[in-house]
Amino acid sequence: MTESVKYLLDESRMPKAWYNLVADLPVPPPPVLHPGTLQPIGPDDLAPLFPLSLIMQEVTTACEVEIPQPVRDIYRQWRPSPLYRARRLEQALDTPARIYYKYEGVSPAGSHKPNTAVAQAFYNKEAGIKRISTETGAGQWGSSLAFAGALFGIDVQVFMVRVSYQQKPYRRALMETYGARCVASPSDETASGRAILAKRADHPGSLGIAISEAVEIAAQRDDTNYALGSVLNHVLLHQTVIGLEAMEQMALANDYPDVVIGCAGGGSNFAGIAFPFIGAQLRGGPKVRALAIEPAACPTLTRGQYAYDFGDTAHLTPLTKMHTLGSTFTPPGFHAGGLRYHGMAPLVSHVKELGLIEARAYHQIGCFEAGVQFARAEGILPAPESNHAVKAAIDEARRCKEDGVSRAILFNLSGHGHFDMQAYMDYFAGKLTDQDYDEAELATALSALPAVAL
Ligand SMILES: *Cc1c(COP(=O)(O)O)cnc(C)c1O
Repeated sequence: MTESVKYLLDESRMPKAWYNLVADLPVPPPPVLHPGTLQPIGPDDLAPLFPLSLIMQEVTTACEVEIPQPVRDIYRQWRPSPLYRARRLEQALDTPARIYYKYEGVSPAGSHKPNTAVAQAFYNKEAGIKRISTETGAGQWGSSLAFAGALFGIDVQVFMVRVSYQQKPYRRALMETYGARCVASPSDETASGRAILAKRADHPGSLGIAISEAVEIAAQRDDTNYALGSVLNHVLLHQTVIGLEAMEQMALANDYPDVVIGCAGGGSNFAGIAFPFIGAQLRGGPKVRALAIEPAACPTLTRGQYAYDFGDTAHLTPLTKMHTLGSTFTPPGFHAGGLRYHGMAPLVSHVKELGLIEARAYHQIGCFEAGVQFARAEGILPAPESNHAVKAAIDEARRCKEDGVSRAILFNLSGHGHFDMQAYMDYFAGKLTDQDYDEAELATALSALPAVAL
């Protein structure tokens, strides 16, 4: 049998609660610090930016958080998402490995990001918020929040990293179709944006800068909150719906993964697929290897320092302990825009330090090669970000062949690449180059890490 097999859950088995890995960790994660006092922050410090419900999710140690019914009603449009056994890819690779992928490209915005966008819009609506400001890199997060804002009647203002704003007009058009307002960042609409433009008028932008702009807007007005598409604990929590479904689906397939793989930008889709399996392992279940895959041009987990740092460039955010390249680091403009963040989710960083996950960095050309091979076998065209996970799955399957053993490999296909065809065209035209980050710039950015005695 060579056709790819789809494992579907019926709606009644869609998870009723998200899973919180913190409840099962042997060591609690380090506290978040106030940027001024360097003391652990309390809920009041975050209240100008987030509704209390999300702040409580940020710090909860409960094992489960119930998914509100209105959120479940929206999830139902595309969830449970399918899990496939990639039989044709296995055959193309002539591998004894059993390759499975969870496909998040079936959401309206085409990626895993609506899983948290819908939840965040719901809690903000419940708190009486009229407007949400946010940043976006490649545009997936902006379009996901724009979609969620449209459903809940919330205005969405998106600061889009300038290089992506120029390279990806269709993502911008999608945000505008959903009714959001999208401006190129750095912009002249905020003090942080103007300060950057004064130094360099053609600055390509970065997620760190766009976050500063969005936070600044939200802090100024009571009816406006801020939303982040990755990194924070509550975002990772919402994404665990992916892994929880995958566990049920692997059971339908009568299998269990030896390896679980996700690409990692801020860490949310990786955490989404991997944390439920890591939690099961911590509670005495089977051991899994969890692999977080990042771009070699922005190698946060593999080359960054584990230190307290700011989440943004203008230093408006609290300090979190995470793997970081320094908040002023501007990664080169490679094609997986969704992976161009200087930091990593503090919770993913923490489990890396605890030795519960592994990290690997790949160059972009090899990732596109893997994505094209995947598309030719399975038909689905992955997002450039997702190609990092595809390549890792293929590499693991090749290792199975070398070792002569059959292992089950599960990866998260975080989104489709239909808005990223220019990147594929550049790949086919031989225009892509494999960039490493600039050593000197990295050293400068790291030398400016805030001094924290913890
Ligand atoms: C945003 C994005 C990512 C990276 O974000 P994480 O928080 O690391 O998951 C990966 N894949 C796709 C398709 C994305 O849109």
